[in-house]
Amino acid sequence: MTGTAPRGHAPHPFFTVGAHGLLVAGQTLGELAVRVGRTPFYAYERAAIDARISAVRAALPREVHLHYAIKANPLPEVVKHIAGQVDGLDVASVAELRVALAAGAPVQEVSFAGPGKTDLELEEAARAGILINVESERELHVLSRLAPRLPGKPRVAIRVNPDFELKTSGMKMGGGPKPFGIDAERVPETLAMLARMPLQFEGFHIFSGSQNLQAAAIAEAQRNAVALAARLASAAPAPVRVLNLGGGFGIPYFPGEVPLDLKEVAAGMRELVAQRPPALRDSQYTVELGRYLIGEAGIYVCRVIDRKISRGQVFLVTDGGLHHHLAASGNFGQVLRKNYPVLIGTRPADSATEVASVVGPLCTPLDLLADRAVMSRAEPGDLVVVLQSGAYGRSASPLGFLSHPAPTEILV
Ligand SMILES: *Cc1c(COP(=O)(O)O)cnc(C)c1O
Repeated sequence: MTGTAPRGHAPHPFFTVGAHGLLVAGQTLGELAVRVGRTPFYAYERAAIDARISAVRAALPREVHLHYAIKANPLPEVVKHIAGQVDGLDVASVAELRVALAAGAPVQEVSFAGPGKTDLELEEAARAGILINVESERELHVLSRLAPRLPGKPRVAIRVNPDFELKTSGMKMGGGPKPFGIDAERVPETLAMLARMPLQFEGFHIFSGSQNLQAAAIAEAQRNAVALAARLASAAPAPVRVLNLGGGFGIPYFPGEVPLDLKEVAAGMRELVAQRPPALRDSQYTVELGRYLIGEAGIYVCRVIDRKISRGQVFLVTDGGLHHHLAASGNFGQVLRKNYPVLIGTRPADSATEVASVVGPLCTPLDLLADRAVMSRAEPGDLVVVLQSGAYGRSASPLGFLSHPAPTEILV
């Protein structure tokens, strides 16, 4: 398609291209690929994860706890690596709960959110002694029924569907009609019911949206969440011990996007901590981050199998695709498809470039990893790298589609 401007890249903080291609944890991508033994694969870099967590730790006020939301990347080695550096873990299923406990997270600081928890899931969570962020009154009734058979009172927080929205968020999780949480205006009634149940009320979970790059919008949502929690606290049967403010910290994926100003978010949080409403004086404020901790620390790597030219446009046909990396194909929540940052990882930085599209082996035009991107000129055997692939990659992809082998994963 001539006449269309080639697209640029989102900025990426951790990986550099040297004289022998992309460097990953001190080795070239070619060396890493030999070590992994086959393509495609995901690689997550420890040093990048650590750098990001330290930056968040250094920026946020000490009083605020940092949790990792496992669903961003549930690979047990990754969870274990992160668990040692954060205060707690948030899970969204019983399988994730087991990964969290195996990673050694303290049960006091593991929480379980997500709509549609089954009776069995609620029972396993309650038995484990973790905090259950209830999403409905039904969940309270189920836990209340189970309670007499359990060693201790189930610990619950109410997930509130706030009466405000997170502005300019990639994915809205609260405000208006939502399947998540209990509508703020119903919460006083719910709390009155909870007061008569054999459950331990611990606080509120207010998560309004994901993938936000605007510090001011995140700060505003957090201020609103604190104000809402303070209002609701007056109807609570016990002091608010925990206030989970959600996350929402975004990372740049697409051309033109600018990284989140962490300092500005942190400044807002320092104000929140300094100006606690009396009702929240003893509350532990927590943020739960997924993609911000791991998204930019991961890459997806696939091999060029074929190089084709169709009516003047170059197609690099690879052994990877949307079945491994749905998000990079644009089919996981994008409205207008844009390219993730993509490069040829086996070519030096100064090699000749061309405009090429990267596609996979699936028989659908949706199987597109890069649409007319500027990259080093590549031949069969070269490795294509999709950056910003540490979160919502393999586990958020339809691995069974067309029955190709699944990608492996490695923490390096
Ligand atoms: C998915 C999810 C997160 C993590 O979102 P990110 O955009 O990856 O930071 C945090 N909290 C809850 C309740 C979630 O469902």
